[in-house]
Amino acid sequence: MKNNIYLFLICISLMTNACQTKRPAYALALHGGAGTILKKNMTPEKEAAYLQALNEALTIGENILKSGGKATDAVEKTILYLEDCPLFNAGKGAVFTFEGKNEMDAAFMDGSNQKAGAVCGVTNIKNPIRAARAVLEKSQHVFLSGRGAEIFAQSVGIDTVPPAYFFTQERWDGLQKAKAAEQAKGNSGDLPFGKTDYKFGTVGVACLDQMGNLAAGTSTGGMTNKRWNRIGDAPVIGAGTYADNATAAVSCTGHGEFFLRYTVARDICALMEYKGSTLEAAGEQIVMKKLVEKGGEGGLIAVDKNGNIIMPFNSEGMYRACVKAGEARKVLIYK
Ligand code: ASP
Repeated sequence: MKNNIYLFLICISLMTNACQTKRPAYALALHGGAGTILKKNMTPEKEAAYLQALNEALTIGENILKSGGKATDAVEKTILYLEDCPLFNAGKGAVFTFEGKNEMDAAFMDGSNQKAGAVCGVTNIKNPIRAARAVLEKSQHVFLSGRGAEIFAQSVGIDTVPPAYFFTQERWDGLQKAKAAEQAKGNSGDLPFGKTDYKFGTVGVACLDQMGNLAAGTSTGGMTNKRWNRIGDAPVIGAGTYADNATAAVSCTGHGEFFLRYTVARDICALMEYKGSTLEAAGEQIVMKKLVEKGGEGGLIAVDKNGNIIMPFNSEGMYRACVKAGEARKVLIYK
């Protein structure tokens, strides 16, 4: 009798564990940038346009994963859409540098084999995420910059465009505003980024596919009014982008200098790998405690190997969306 009770209890406990650890068939999270995004500054039309774009991007990625496609394909196709959408600071909607140019950065990482590819400071590649993936798949390298990255991209058949393709009036006006604010502060350029009123707008995707593979990608125009070929965290593997099947896939957005210094994306995975943290605890510790203490504004999206999703941010808002197989999607902007 006693033995039967023990057996019964063991079965219950095994069943409960199985339920808790059962991973969804797929999971995907994306962001369209974090920053000073306040409802009071948003028109209903603009809000609706952002929500629609986030929704459409999510559908592109979800359809790939739902039909058994690869995490890497879901990351690339979702980011392609976001890069072509002028609402976001990546591809078409990239922000302007101090010299009035668009210099873009992107990174791509495949968690199944830890292969990575990245480009930075590119000016004529229509979709920098495509170039980042090509560095991973078609070169012996991980990170290419500037003109070399452009020549490589062209050599593998990636679309280039005249730099004028990236002109949008809104981003141009944003540069003029940033310059005026800088002048008013008497700032000579040693501190190019004000802490207020920057809606960063980078895009990123992290996902888990039905084979259990993770992948992440990030693409950005960087920060408005950047100088001296400044490169942010987005294309730096381990800072703004990271993926490892053993832990999680992560894409960051925010004030890149801080994400670079504290290797944020890798830190999330390292906490899980070495300390046994849950994804949620790692996100809380890095985004909501460490970055806040250091003054680093921004957030990230991440998906772990069990399909858990987090989207923490310490700024006013973050354009974000996520979906898991069998669950309702979330599409959000504000806190
Ligand atoms: N992290 C990006 C950078 O510093 C900006 C962003 O996320 O919007 O270049």
